[in-house]
Amino acid sequence: MRIGLGYDLHRLQEGRELWLGGVKIPFEAGLLGHSDGDCLLHALIDALLGALGEGDIGQHFPNDDPRWAGVSSVKLLEEILALFQERHGKIINIDAVIIAERPRLQPYFPQLKLKLAGLLGIPPQRLNLKAKTSEGLGLIGGGQAMAAWVIALVELPNK
Ligand code: MG
Repeated sequence: MRIGLGYDLHRLQEGRELWLGGVKIPFEAGLLGHSDGDCLLHALIDALLGALGEGDIGQHFPNDDPRWAGVSSVKLLEEILALFQERHGKIINIDAVIIAERPRLQPYFPQLKLKLAGLLGIPPQRLNLKAKTSEGLGLIGGGQAMAAWVIALVELPNK
């Protein structure tokens, strides 16, 4: 068994599409980034990389590399999942916390869980999502950013 932890934060910008967990969520602002800024998928990627002992997302997808400009983070996750498969990894469970003042994310959880479980090839009950606000405090509380924490427990063959 291995465990991996991921964290990410992106700035919110008005007029951008909001992509979270590979799902487009209707909102007046979206996450700014070299890719689509999907902080939930970026934290998930970092959690998987952590469990694999393979560094972090920035090492695999440098943000000065034009190949990853404006790309869907689903594509980035797929690249890391291919690496995970090469290593014969198996996901035991995933737990995630999304920190956002607005919009209310709970209504999108069923859709998000199906999307993420589908991408990861695990039953949705092995994936847990939680949403928190920042109680109006700081950059997240002021609606300037969103963040996510993800923890992944995986099984990897011994080597
Ligand atoms: Mg990121």
